[in-house]
Amino acid sequence: MSKRSHIVKNVISIIILIVAITITTKIYNKYNYNDFDKSVSEIGKTNFTRDSKEKYSKMDSYKIENIDYTDSIFSQTISVIPNKPYKVTCKVKVKDVENLNNTKSGGAHISINGTTERSKTITGTTNWQDLTFYFNSKNRTEVNLGFRLGGYAEKSKGTAWFSDFKVEIGTENTNNKWKMVCFIFPNIDVNVNVNGKMENVKLQMSNDDIMNIKNNMSRYSTSISQICKNKMSIEYEIYTITNPIKTLSYDETNGYYVSADDVYEYINSYVEQNNYDHIYVAFRMADKQKGNDTLVNDWIGLGGMDYLGIGFSNIRMPDDENNYAYQYNYLFNTFPEEVFLHEFLHTLERNSQEYGYEVPALHDYKKYGYSENNIDGLKKWYEDYMNCNISYGQNKIGLPPQIYKYKPANKNNFIYSSNINALNEPKNIIEVIRNLAKRIQKLFSYVSENNG
Ligand SMILES: [Zn+2]
Repeated sequence: MSKRSHIVKNVISIIILIVAITITTKIYNKYNYNDFDKSVSEIGKTNFTRDSKEKYSKMDSYKIENIDYTDSIFSQTISVIPNKPYKVTCKVKVKDVENLNNTKSGGAHISINGTTERSKTITGTTNWQDLTFYFNSKNRTEVNLGFRLGGYAEKSKGTAWFSDFKVEIGTENTNNKWKMVCFIFPNIDVNVNVNGKMENVKLQMSNDDIMNIKNNMSRYSTSISQICKNKMSIEYEIYTITNPIKTLSYDETNGYYVSADDVYEYINSYVEQNNYDHIYVAFRMADKQKGNDTLVNDWIGLGGMDYLGIGFSNIRMPDDENNYAYQYNYLFNTFPEEVFLHEFLHTLERNSQEYGYEVPALHDYKKYGYSENNIDGLKKWYEDYMNCNISYGQNKIGLPPQIYKYKPANKNNFIYSSNINALNEPKNIIEVIRNLAKRIQKLFSYVSENNG
């Protein structure tokens, strides 16, 4: 063999090697999700790739493409300190994102995988924008943080790009003053299913109804401090929203009710601006005097729900205007604000459980020897519930005193915040190799564990 053909051969093998490395690197870069785990609810409907063209910053973006309605997520488990507020931010862009059955929740968002805790959702077609998710670690030491297209109970199709992930820890708020809001919706205009037939229901609240709600919010703000012996206090705002509620939610136990999704478009600008700790929505769902009793339910309040992590309650006007549930009368109702307190206590009951405390169920008053009084309802029960003064054997039980400080995380917790070392992407070749080695090691230990 001549020297010349030897050189040519060498050059060719070097070129082949370079091409092979380039292709491998390209493929690797296209599918490399670093430390994120990808998961889908249905196989074959989602493509996860990195995008070097559609990106916000220097790094390739993370692209989720749902070719049909489904739920997909890439996530990473991060360590958290219990009882701390956290803020997760990223940049997001979407194209043609639609939700199955046009649900209002669902779309591109940040969430804690396996829970309903999430940021707001993005649908349609948008340019790059900021997305923020606040959460409280509660009693957890780790959470699986995910970037999702779909939802806990929703399915979406379309494309979402995510980029520039950041996690911050904030300072917990230690005061016991709760900022509450009551949105009064005097009008509803909804299509509902009554015995298999769709019916349109339009209803209005009277001025007396609105006045009753306002009076009760005022009474409630005073009585709650008295009942809990100043373990907490509230300040509140009231807004009357004239746009009608256009959809209702439904479940087997309660029938029709107003969920966070049903009022999101009307109230979210207030909520984002004002950092509320609790939200009430007041409305009418039936009016017997006007012959409308389609949506009669046996509840006048519903609680324990949440609006993006903030406690959320329904206050429903009685169907019959001769019902005095919301009207003060020294002979037969000295506690008309009871339903406001009751529904808020459902939120504290739920929070206690989520923070890892064992508390008696709010509806279990009979079990502990309490009964409803004709004049002031369950006031005595609430008092002992809030002050952890219910006798149970040798013990006193009720809400833990700390619960009054555990309010929803919001931007006030992040005036002084620090970044935590999580969701970081490798920034240079050495970090890429280190990261790769770490993942190969993880894979081998997984294989050997599963063979052992
Ligand atoms: Zn209840």
